[in-house]
This record gives sequence, structure tokens and C-alpha cells, in this order.
Amino acid sequence: MTARLASYWEIGAPLQQPARDLPRQTDLLIVGAGFLGCWLAYWISRLKPAWAQRTLVIERDLIGYGASTRNAGFLTGGHVSEMLADVAECGFDALFAQFLRRRAGLALVLAEFPDLPTDPCGSADYDEVTEAKRTLARRVNAALAARGEAPAFETKRARFGGTEREVFFSASDRGVNPMQLLTRLRASARAAGVKFAFGVRAQAVSGGRATLALPDQAEPQELAYDRARICVNAFDSELVSRSPIVPGRGQVLVSSPVKAATSHHLGFLHDGYDYFKFVDGRLLVGGGRHRFRAREQTTELTPTDEVRQYLLGLARTIVGHDRFSIDHAWAGIMGFPQGRHISTCHRTDLDETTATLNACGGMGVALTPLVARDEALRLP
Ligand SMILES: Cc1cc2nc3c(=O)[nH]c(=O)nc-3n(C[C@H](O)[C@H](O)[C@H](O)COP(=O)(O)OP(=O)(O)OC[C@H]3O[C@@H](n4cnc5c(N)ncnc54)[C@H](O)[C@@H]3O)c2cc1C
Repeated sequence: MTARLASYWEIGAPLQQPARDLPRQTDLLIVGAGFLGCWLAYWISRLKPAWAQRTLVIERDLIGYGASTRNAGFLTGGHVSEMLADVAECGFDALFAQFLRRRAGLALVLAEFPDLPTDPCGSADYDEVTEAKRTLARRVNAALAARGEAPAFETKRARFGGTEREVFFSASDRGVNPMQLLTRLRASARAAGVKFAFGVRAQAVSGGRATLALPDQAEPQELAYDRARICVNAFDSELVSRSPIVPGRGQVLVSSPVKAATSHHLGFLHDGYDYFKFVDGRLLVGGGRHRFRAREQTTELTPTDEVRQYLLGLARTIVGHDRFSIDHAWAGIMGFPQGRHISTCHRTDLDETTATLNACGGMGVALTPLVARDEALRLP
């Protein structure tokens, strides 16, 4: 068995107690306690409090083991290079709608948890500033102006690896510790009466009946439910036949405390496939998925040496020297609908009682608050 490598955010976060017993019936079953499952539980407690006591969240892990506890902690509406790549795939209107949803999600995080520590560092897109990108940035800013909103993107100078370059900058983007946000979501939902059961794996969920494996129990238990929402992201195909979700592994390194010759914004490189930020005086760098695409389409949570070497090279370029060590390395798993980057459809009905919620790809820190709120509002 491979040892689990904790993410930077999980260090010191308490593991939850494994569930010893479960009810035989619940009105609403939420499977998966990542951001989507936890935001859904949170919104139920805020917007539909009568449901809270009748809601059960189950999670196979003792802290969450997919993307939410293991991501990079960028709260971002998006950046120009990524958007230019996406506009070719889905057109401007879908792209702009997605951008608005991410911005709205970011605003919701700040509004719901005003005392949550976030880093108001803004984001810089370090890829080359081309005419096509200037045109797209102007179009996004004009579309925002038509809604009476401030522009999102400006160009400015930023330092990268010891030299200055022109970048697209987005002032509203922030860094967040995802574990802190998850912990607050769970605490609020619990206080309203939502029950969480950790260490419980759903083996089958359909037609009002769930088969659940509990820790240290030989026989699975049956649970009857009125409604179930499956929020297992990249692991959807383990529960849903013909699931369109394709997994994508993301790998992350965190350095020792380091002096860097690069501005302390959230940083995007290579159409956003690579990214970095500074946390507690350390460099966090992630990505590499585009270089090793076929091997990274996996639900295997073990990091690989080839991606580590690639990210290490990137880290040296960013800080401008090699006088640091890698103190933390881990992998997380995202889920992409048909492998696509952007999706506007986050909900699939499986039967009258059961639906899956997913398709937040690599954008879920900002997208999940809104996707989950929409779902909570559908409850009677
Ligand atoms: C390395 C990496 C970096 C990222 N960086 C960012 C970023 O900076 N900004 C951003 O916006 N997004 C980022 N993302 C994407 C973001 O993390 C995801 O979009 C988001 O966390 C998805 O949340 P989720 O709840 O849908 O899925 P998950 O967090 O994967 O939650 C699913 C949960 O379901 C549980 N589960 C699975 N199967 C079962 C079962 N059968 N029974 C019970 N429980 C089950 C899993 O243990 C897991 O905890 C990143 C992702 C990765 C991997």
C-alpha cells in the first residue's frame, strides 16, 4: 500500500473520527465531502434550514481525498491566456458566463466568510502578451463595463525570474488555504444539524437506496434516501455507469522558505497548466499535466518523479536560483467532463431520486460555491 502524502494544507488539520454507525434512512444523502459536498451542506444550513437535520454527508476518507484538500488554493476568476485557449473551444459567450460564475463564487466566499484569511495578492499571467490576448482582455473588460462592473484585466510590469516583463494582471484574485475554508463550511453545516460520517465509502447509490461500507465492518450497510447528490468529482465512474468525467492528476511542490526574484502574485504559465504562488515565504508550484497528459489521466494519488523534476525546474526558474529544498510534494485529482476544460452543465439526473454534481475541473475553489447554491435552492 502506498503511503499517503499530505498536502501542505492538511498538515496539522485534525483527521475526523471514523463513523461507527449510520442511520438507516435519510431525506438527503450527499456523497463526498470536498468543496461541492461541503458547500451544498453549508447552503442547506443557510438557505433551507429545515433540511439540515435531515441531511447526511458521507466521505470515504477521514479528511477528504480528491481535489479540495490538495489543490493550490487559487481563488480566481480566470486569466487571459487560459481564456484565449478556451474561447476557441466554447465561444465567447460561454467563456464569459463561466468567468462571471467564477467571479461570483469568489465574491461569495468573501461575503460568507469575511474573516477567512485570504491573500489579496492578485494574479499575473506570465505568458507572452499578444495582440489576440489584448483584444480578448478588452472584450471581457467591455462586457463587464456593459454590466456596470469594473474592468478585470490590466497590463502592468511584474518581475519573473529576475527580469521584468509585461503581464496581464487581475487585482481581484486571491490566495486561500482550502483546508481552512472546508473546515468552516463543515462547522457551519454541523452547527445547523447536518450530520457528517467520515470513513464511509458509497459502493452503490441509486433509486433511493445506497450501499455503504463502514470502517472495520465486514458487511456493507443499506441506507434508504429520498434524494441523493453524488459529489465525488473525478471518482464519478466508480458509482455512475457511462460517467463523462475524465480524471486528471495535478501535482504540487512546496519549497523551503525562499527568496525569489519574482513578484508575489498568483502566477500562471503555459495557458494556466502551470501555476505558482507564495505561501508562508515558500514557493508553491504545480502543474505539468499538459506535458505528461496520458499518464496524468488517472485517479492514482501518488506523485511521479517525472512531474516532480519538471516542477523543480520550473521552481528554479521562478525563484532565479537553486538554493532551496522541496519540503512538500503531493498529488490531487480533478475531474473534467469529456476531458474538456469548461462545462456549463454541472448536474446530471440519474433517476428520480439521484443526481451527480461535478464538472468544476481545475476551477472548483471559485466555482463550487455557486454550483452548490443553485442546487440547494432547488430543494423545496
Ligand atoms: C493539484 C490541484 C490543484 C488545483 N488548484 C486549484 C486552484 O488553485 N483553484 C481552483 O479553483 N481549483 C483548483 N483545483 C480544482 C479544485 O480543487 C476542484 O475543482 C474542487 O476541489 C472539486 O471539488 P469537489 O468537491 O467536486 O471534488 P473533491 O474535492 O475531489 O471531493 C470529492 C470527495 O468525494 C470523496 N469520495 C470519492 N468517492 C467516494 C465514495 N465512493 N464514497 C464516499 N466518498 C467518496 C473523495 O474522498 C473526495 O473527498 C485544483 C485541483 C488539483 C487536483
